[in-house]
Amino acid sequence: MKRSVPRAMRIAPELDPHRPAPPVRQRQALLINPFYPKDPHASFGKHVLTPTLALTSVAAGTPADWDVRYWDENLLQGPPPSDPMPAVVGITVHLTFAQRAYELARWYRQRGSVVILGGLHVISCPEEAAPHADALAIGDGVALWGQILRDVEQGCLRSTYRADFRRPYRDDPPPRRDLLPRNGFLTTSSLIATRGCHNRCGFCYLSTKGLHMPYLMRDVEQIAEEFQRDGQPYAVFTDNNLGSKPEYLRQLCRALRPLEKIWSAAVSIDVTDDPSLVREMALAGCTGVFIGFESLQNDNITDAKKKSPNTKDYARRVALLHDNGIQVNGSFVLGFDHDREDVFENTIRWVEENRLECATFHIMTPYPGTPLFRQLESEGRLLHRDWSKYDTANVVFRPKHLTPEQLAAGYELCYDRLFSHASIWRRRPKDWRAVPAYLAMSYLYKRSNWMWHLLIKYRLTATVWRPLVEWTRRRHVKFRRRLQAKPETSRRGSTVVSAGV
Ligand code: SF4
Repeated sequence: MKRSVPRAMRIAPELDPHRPAPPVRQRQALLINPFYPKDPHASFGKHVLTPTLALTSVAAGTPADWDVRYWDENLLQGPPPSDPMPAVVGITVHLTFAQRAYELARWYRQRGSVVILGGLHVISCPEEAAPHADALAIGDGVALWGQILRDVEQGCLRSTYRADFRRPYRDDPPPRRDLLPRNGFLTTSSLIATRGCHNRCGFCYLSTKGLHMPYLMRDVEQIAEEFQRDGQPYAVFTDNNLGSKPEYLRQLCRALRPLEKIWSAAVSIDVTDDPSLVREMALAGCTGVFIGFESLQNDNITDAKKKSPNTKDYARRVALLHDNGIQVNGSFVLGFDHDREDVFENTIRWVEENRLECATFHIMTPYPGTPLFRQLESEGRLLHRDWSKYDTANVVFRPKHLTPEQLAAGYELCYDRLFSHASIWRRRPKDWRAVPAYLAMSYLYKRSNWMWHLLIKYRLTATVWRPLVEWTRRRHVKFRRRLQAKPETSRRGSTVVSAGV
C-alpha cells in the first residue's frame, strides 16, 4: 500500500544561503540532532516518545561559563538557530542522516562557527566525516565536549579527539533535560542505567569495529532519584539491553518500586529465564518491554551469533511477560540468509497468535564496520553505498533466497498487516478491562501518521498522550497491589495493562 508522507516528515528544513550572518558570539555553543526522513510504514509517533539522551548528556559537560542550546530538527521547528551565531556547533552524525549533518556543517562553517562532528558514523567512517569538520569527537562525546570547548577558547583545537566507553560513567553530570521542550515528547524521562550489551550480534551497531563498549552499570539509587526529580509518570530506558545482568536489573527494580511510576525498556528475551525477575519488573512498574526476537528461525539466530533461547520457546516466554502485565513490542529483522518467501506470513502470524501489542520490522541492514557488512561486502552482495538508504526500510544488499523486490514487498506487507484494524483487534489483551486503553494507544500510535506532524509541530504530543499515560499508571499501581498479594508461583489471572507505548 502506498502511503503519503507529509512534506515536513520527508524533507529537511531549508538552510537559507542568503540569511545574513550575525557576528559569532564567543562561548556560545549549539548542539544539533539533524533531520532524517521518516519511514512511512512505521509510526511517526516513535520519534517523539522520548528524547535521545546523546546530546543532552553531552550538553551536561559544557563549562559553566559557556551557553549551550540544543536543537532537534525532527521536532519540526525549522532550521537550527543562527542568531547569535554560535562559536561552536556540535553535530551528531549517523549513517542515514550523514548528508544532512554535512550540509549543516558546511552552512555554519561558512558563517564562522567551529564545527565538531561526533556520533556513531564518525566512529565507523572518520575519513569520510573529517573534511566536513574542524574536529572530530570519536567515541564518548560526554568525556570530550568540555575539553573541546576549552581548546577552542584557547585557540589550540586539535583535529581529532578520542575517548572510549570504558570509563565508569556514574559520575557524569545528569543530562540537561532543561534544554528540551517538555511538551514536545510523550515523556522527557529518558533514562539510561547501563551501557552496552552482553551480546554482540553481527548486524548490531554495537559490534562496529573500533567501538569498545563494555557493559557498565550506574548506581540504582541514582537512577531512581533522576526519575523522581524529572517529575514525569512514565520513563523510557534507552539502554541497549537493560537485562544483560539479571541481578543488577533486580536491584534496579527494587529501587524503582517505591516511586509508583511506570516505565518500559529494551531487554533480551532471556530475562524470562527467571520468572521471579519478571515479577520484580512488574512490581517495579514495568509496563512494556522492547525485545529483539530478530527471527523465528534458530539458524538465523546462530548466524547472527546471538545468544538466545530456542525460538520454539519464545511463545511461552511472551506469555510469562503478559501474565505479569507487561506488554511486548517485538523487533524482527527480515532478510536473513535462511529467510524464504514464507518468512513474512510466518512472522506476522506468530505476532498475532501471541498477541504482541506492537512489533517493529527491519530489513536487514549491514552497517559499515560490522561483521555483517564485511561478510556481505566480501561476498559481493552490497547493492550500493548510499548511506541514506541504510535505514532498515530499504533493501541495500542481495538476499540469499529472496529477490530485493520480494524483501521490500514483504516488509511492507508486515507493516500493512500489523497496522490493520483486524490485526490490532486480534492482538487485543485477553483481559477485557485492558482493551480500551490498548485500543486508544494502538490507534494513536499506529494509525495516526496523518496527524503526527501537526502534533509534533505544535508541541501537542504531551497534551494528547499524557492523560492516557496517567490513566495507565493509576491502573498499574492497582494491578501491582493485586500481583503482590498473589503467591509467586501463581501464573494465570493477571491483567495485561496497557503501557504508555
Ligand atoms: S542483543 Fe540487541 S543490543 Fe545486544 S548486541 Fe544483539 S542486537 Fe545489539
